[in-house]
Amino acid sequence: MQIITEHQIAEILDPEIAFFAVQDVFKSMETEAWNFPVVRESLGFQDALYGFKSGFDPASGALGLKAGGYWPHNADKGLANHQSSIFLFDPETGQCKALLAGNTITALRTAAASAVSIDRLAVANPTTLGLVGTGHQSIFQLEAALRVRAFEQVKIWNRSSRDLTKHQALAESYGVACNEASLEEVVRESQVIITITSCMEALFPSDWVSPGTHIAAMGTDTKGKQELDPALSQRSKRITDEIAQSRTIGEFQHVSADSEILTIGSILQGTATGRTRDDQITVFDGTGVGLQDLACAQAVMKSLGAS
Ligand code: NAD
Repeated sequence: MQIITEHQIAEILDPEIAFFAVQDVFKSMETEAWNFPVVRESLGFQDALYGFKSGFDPASGALGLKAGGYWPHNADKGLANHQSSIFLFDPETGQCKALLAGNTITALRTAAASAVSIDRLAVANPTTLGLVGTGHQSIFQLEAALRVRAFEQVKIWNRSSRDLTKHQALAESYGVACNEASLEEVVRESQVIITITSCMEALFPSDWVSPGTHIAAMGTDTKGKQELDPALSQRSKRITDEIAQSRTIGEFQHVSADSEILTIGSILQGTATGRTRDDQITVFDGTGVGLQDLACAQAVMKSLGAS
């Protein structure tokens, strides 16, 4: 069994590899790949959420699981709040092939999902990207989005003031201006908005969002979490990675049960249509599926020459 460290993964996996791995597995989820039910428990210790995400993609042979979760006080200890590890198994024998550190993969595969949604659902020429939340995931989200659209500027909001030096340097490397703004300005003036917070209630009212906006709502991955006003989700075209997760632990747990939700995979496969009008609001609820982790883990193993 091979053990692959965070350091090795950071040297191999980049936003482009993650983008295509995630895009391919979203397509595969429309045909033969499937995720197993998520286990997510509140430990009652360190306020941590812990669980397992797993799945199987017969097309790529990806079989495995990610174990880990969210420790909200880790930042005070100089650690990322998300901590996880990924196991890959041989689908022929069930033998464990590899154990990979999961933090970089989680960040890159989450950002890749958001980028796939922006690539497919945002208007063609958005000028402003809005980023709501500046925690650990946000820099990955920013880079993945900058790769898929030629934005002119980025506006960032966080509930408390944060050092944005890294965000600004990254945006500048893409020739894009990047500034802090009020939440209202970020929401009203952006054609693409990424929300990546651990919020438990709507961050902003529905009527701040302009027609034509695409929102990648990436923070809600647990029952009870929420970033969007249900009125906003209700008046938008709703797209997700996996409907079962979206309705239970994702943003669309907060919409009525009979609301239509499309999968991004069906749009990628061409069996459903994404944006149909320039003034349509689209919301992608990225709940984060195990197969995204496995697809990126497989990509890492492939780069290392493993079969
Ligand atoms: P983090 O702890 O580093 O940052 C949390 C962010 O949320 C900070 O910007 C913080 O200011 C903000 N926040 C918290 N409570 C808020 C509130 N009430 N109002 C406004 N902002 C608030 O976390 P992270 O690793 O950056 O992850 C952010 C979120 O994304 C978490 O909820 C995490 O569980 C989720 N996540 C989702 C996926 C997925 O696949 N969908 C993957 C990884 C992380």
